[in-house]
Amino acid sequence: MAADGLLIIGASQSGVQLAVSLRALGYDAPITLLGDEDHRPYQRPALSKDFLQGSISKEKLIHRSQDYWDEHRIRVVKNERITRIDKRADGSGTATSRSGAVFAFDRLALTVGARARPLPLPGTDLPGVLHLRNADDALELKARAETATDVVIIGGGFIGLEAAASLQKMGKRVTVLEAGPRLVGRAVGEEVAAHLLAHHTARGIRIELGARTEALVGDDDGVRGVRMADGSTLPADVVLIGIGVLPNTELAEQLGLECDNGIRVDACALTSDGVTVAIGDCANLPNPVPGSPPGDRVRFESVNNAIEHAKVAAYAITGRREEYAGIPWFWSNQGDLKLQIAGLSQGSDRTVVRRDDTKGRFTVLHYAGGRIIAAECLNAPLDFMAVRQALGAGADVPADLAGDPSVPLKSITTAPTTATKPVEQPA
Ligand SMILES: Cc1cc2nc3c(=O)[nH]c(=O)nc-3n(C[C@H](O)[C@H](O)[C@H](O)COP(=O)(O)OP(=O)(O)OC[C@H]3O[C@@H](n4cnc5c(N)ncnc54)[C@H](O)[C@@H]3O)c2cc1C
Repeated sequence: MAADGLLIIGASQSGVQLAVSLRALGYDAPITLLGDEDHRPYQRPALSKDFLQGSISKEKLIHRSQDYWDEHRIRVVKNERITRIDKRADGSGTATSRSGAVFAFDRLALTVGARARPLPLPGTDLPGVLHLRNADDALELKARAETATDVVIIGGGFIGLEAAASLQKMGKRVTVLEAGPRLVGRAVGEEVAAHLLAHHTARGIRIELGARTEALVGDDDGVRGVRMADGSTLPADVVLIGIGVLPNTELAEQLGLECDNGIRVDACALTSDGVTVAIGDCANLPNPVPGSPPGDRVRFESVNNAIEHAKVAAYAITGRREEYAGIPWFWSNQGDLKLQIAGLSQGSDRTVVRRDDTKGRFTVLHYAGGRIIAAECLNAPLDFMAVRQALGAGADVPADLAGDPSVPLKSITTAPTTATKPVEQPA
């Protein structure tokens, strides 16, 4: 009987990386990479940036050519949404799609990602009220933006600010409504949040913090505005909702896998059944930062995590236990501002700001217990690289020397004091 091989549900960043890493490791069984979108696997980050602005084409977002998939015997299936999985104790089973197609597997990988969090307000079903999670969302936003004058973005997180900067560049009148007291919630510290506010406001984006939205108003032709709790209405031809994402855990829950803000996995990306892997945005994993408190868990929403997590899962599937250990990093391009973050700032008890206004650079270094734990760097790639390398090597960047922006951080980085064992990674 022919083997059914591995079924990867979710054909995006983590699913693609898993398939690629498995072949790099010599995994020889059939691989099916299946997704519900009607596009070849593509990269999401540009959807709110260059692709929205029209400076790169859809083709540039595509992960791999059809020749690559063919040569590596990876079957890519588009436009099939899995709605039911039947799995046996040994990890094999069948997955059934909404169209009725059945996909048999010997082993399963869940790389189902996350979906846009819905906004619980009246009027969100009006034409022109959009989210920005996938290529179809981006295509619709692009099309509607062409004729729009006023765009209101609800949510001042990364996606909201990236889209705001892109739409402002495209000549739109942009308002960002953020319910919280500062931009980007807890993902950046207060100093960077304040810098982002000043930067975007100076470029003509109107930003309201503590905004109380009440309803989206309009008619069959589309949304016309956003009604605020004080009774005023902001005009809007397009409303973009960017208030975060929810991990797609429904299939895992149906399989009886443990879920808690994502599908719970161990350090090798194995779910609670010990054989299915779950990776990327959908997974809740042990904090991979060396030295993090035992039991501490995280769920990341980043390309870097999707890639690194997939490599660890590839090892697990080939029978080798490699624990995920590493320094998370993230970037967000917002118009002419490039934010790069290395490490996690949770637990920070001291910050040091490096600011060079002549060069437009702004870096905030985070410390805990006297040691560096993270850096948030705006247009300061050398600071980012220095801290990322220092954290990866278990080295420190002394706080008392770090505040002078004319001193390269690399030059003051101390020798490593803790040994970290990087996992050797397949391509
Ligand atoms: C607009 C935008 C900009 C971003 N910018 C950045 C950035 O600048 N830097 C950064 O690091 N990260 C960025 N990200 C985040 C990054 O793209 C994600 O972290 C990454 O895509 C996660 O990959 P994933 O494969 O885990 O999940 P996803 O990319 O969410 O892919 C999951 C796939 O599974 C499919 N799927 C779900 N359920 C089913 C089912 N039942 N059947 C079949 N298919 C299913 C989904 O449709 C989707 O195609 C951005 C994301 C967006 C949306």
